[in-house]
Parts: sequence; C-alpha cells; structure tokens
Amino acid sequence: MGGTYLVVDIDNVVARTDEVMRDVIKNRSKEGVNLRYEDVKHFNYWECVDTEGRRITKDEWTSTIHPVFSEQANILRIEPYCEIQGFLCELIDADYQIHLVTSRLEQARVPTILWLDRHKIPHNALHFVKHGTKHIVFRTCVAIIEDDLDQARKFAEQGIQSYLLAHPWNDCGVADNIMRVRDWHEIVDDLTCRVSDTRI
Ligand SMILES: [Mg+2]
Repeated sequence: MGGTYLVVDIDNVVARTDEVMRDVIKNRSKEGVNLRYEDVKHFNYWECVDTEGRRITKDEWTSTIHPVFSEQANILRIEPYCEIQGFLCELIDADYQIHLVTSRLEQARVPTILWLDRHKIPHNALHFVKHGTKHIVFRTCVAIIEDDLDQARKFAEQGIQSYLLAHPWNDCGVADNIMRVRDWHEIVDDLTCRVSDTRI
C-alpha cells in the first residue's frame, strides 16, 4: 500500500464549517439571511433561501461573506467532527496517507494551519487548490472524501472511488464510484476492508 494516498476535503468533512458559515451569513449579510442546516440545499450558499425567502447575492458572498469567514477568529471557532482524529488515525494505521485538500481562500491558510494544530488533526500533507480543480491536481489518489457533489463526480468519472459525506446539499442518488455515507464510521469501515482485500 506504499504511496497510497487519500484526498480529504476539510470543510464539512473534517470540520463542522457550515455552522460558522451560516452564522457569518446571518450576522454579516445585508438582509440578515437566516439559513437553517436543512435550508442549505445547494453547495453555493448564494443559491440557498431561508424560510422568509431571503438569500445572499453572489456579489455579497465574494465581497463580504467569504472573506469574513476566512478571518482567523472565524476559522478558529469551527468545531472538528466528533472523533475525527481517531478516524484519520485508523486510516493512517491502515497505511493510507492523508492529504488534506481545501479551496479555502489564501488568507485562510495560516488560520487553517493553526486550526489543524489546535485540534491535532492527523495528516501527511495540506494543499490549497482552486475550487473545482482537485480532480486535475490529484489524479493518482486512491480515493477521495468530499461533501461537494460536483467535485466527487469529477473524480468518480476518472474511476476514483469517491465518498460523499451526506448533507442536504449533496443528495446524488446512485452513481458509479460514489458512495454517499452518513458518517465517518462507514468510510473507515469501507476503506479498511479494501486494504484487507488487497492483502488476501
Ligand atoms: Mg467541503
């Protein structure tokens, strides 16, 4: 299994980012857009509508919400997923390398490193790439773990096993090479089974 690496997204996969993002939207959007978790039916927040029919504009996302979210104080208040350190350790013990790959803004780089340190998130490498380009940069990975359906589909089309952590914004139905999972237990179980299968 030498050189076998996994591409693992950070936001809404390792980190419970959505909670902080919705809070930033509520407090910093002009209309006080108040999204609940179940209202986030699209990956792009500017496409999501709250119960009063309000939504942020794409311009608002680009000029205000995304930069404010990327400030250190906001990045550092994101909680990691429960027991994520243990799940990643199990994968490392099974000889997988963990490559954390994110499309966060450049200004979030240092805060992201501080966050990973603070929460002792096990990983072998950290990469920042442009949104939607992970499948071009990481064509030799063995599998990916994502919440972005479009990004997962692009890997799946290249024959790469894609695990999609279930959220309201990524309901995909059945698709080749995509396994939509409710939690990290299912991911670790499946990936560790694959390792033992190759060793039989
Ligand atoms: Mg994500």
